[in-house]
Amino acid sequence: MGSENRRPEMRKDNVNNRWVIFSPARSRRPSDFKSKSNNNNNNQLECPFCLGHEHECAPEIFRFPPDSTSDWRIRVIQNLYPALSRDIDPSSLQNPNPSPISGGVALSGFGFHDVVIESPVHSVHLSDLDPVDVGVVLLAYKKRIQQLLSHDSIKYVQVFKNHGASAGASMSHSHSQIMALPVVPPSASVRLDCMKAYFDQTRKCSICEARSDDLIIDKSTHFISIVPFAATFPFEIWIIPLDHSSHFHKIDNQKDSDRYGFYAIQKCISFEAKIMLNIVLKESKVARKIKKQVLLIIKAALMLLNTT
Ligand code: AMP
Ligand code: ZN
Repeated sequence: MGSENRRPEMRKDNVNNRWVIFSPARSRRPSDFKSKSNNNNNNQLECPFCLGHEHECAPEIFRFPPDSTSDWRIRVIQNLYPALSRDIDPSSLQNPNPSPISGGVALSGFGFHDVVIESPVHSVHLSDLDPVDVGVVLLAYKKRIQQLLSHDSIKYVQVFKNHGASAGASMSHSHSQIMALPVVPPSASVRLDCMKAYFDQTRKCSICEARSDDLIIDKSTHFISIVPFAATFPFEIWIIPLDHSSHFHKIDNQKDSDRYGFYAIQKCISFEAKIMLNIVLKESKVARKIKKQVLLIIKAALMLLNTT
């Protein structure tokens, strides 16, 4: 059996306190970017994510509109080269395998890895979508997060979007990905513990406090975008709901229709020749007794590429 056919596993790094996914199948994933330097300008006209190429993709989870006889606007599909496998029995998570190599611990690679195809047309980017279609993308995230979190063995879901080859994207057709894990990554637990400690000390929510006037980029009825005071890289932006909302999938549809969060990102990626973009949205099942609990952050990291 070729090593790329081996089942995925999650290995615990006890030095850095993090889980690392080992998925040999990922090495087979294709790329339609000719080279990294040719960032977003690929000349390809069609790909497996295009309308009419559905048979080249892994199975569909749902589409919008749901009627399979009409053309779709958005499809949520399984990943053909998943980092984690939905076919592994989650009960194997109860028995972590001690590794003979280093005494480390490995879990079976159970989990979900989906792809959200944001448009049927190859050349249409998120920044080109009209507000209604951007809202449909958000509703697709919300629906899939709800489905995944209802699974007993799933503890954490992350939505992410890589835009541009330099941001790590292998497909130029506009898409995002949803990964559901059986563990809460330590980085997420640390964030929640830190917010809880801040609340215990000050009786205030650290995310609300982050909204200092000096750091505001823009504001709409339900959301605000800020540059975080302690940004970790240039052009880091946080998009935060104005009301306390603990989970993205519980935000009501009126707020979805205020698609401000995505407008901010759209504005940024309209400069797409110059930037790469990673968007991350994190959802965990961890319970913390924080009275005013706000755990939703849409974090968009924009970094200028060398444009010369
Ligand atoms: P990215 O590498 O960020 O551009 O994401 C593209 C994702 O699409 C990768 O995770 C691939 O494994 C996945 N992928 C590539 N081709 C297909 C396909 N035909 N059907 C389903 N998923 C695919
Ligand atoms: Zn395409």
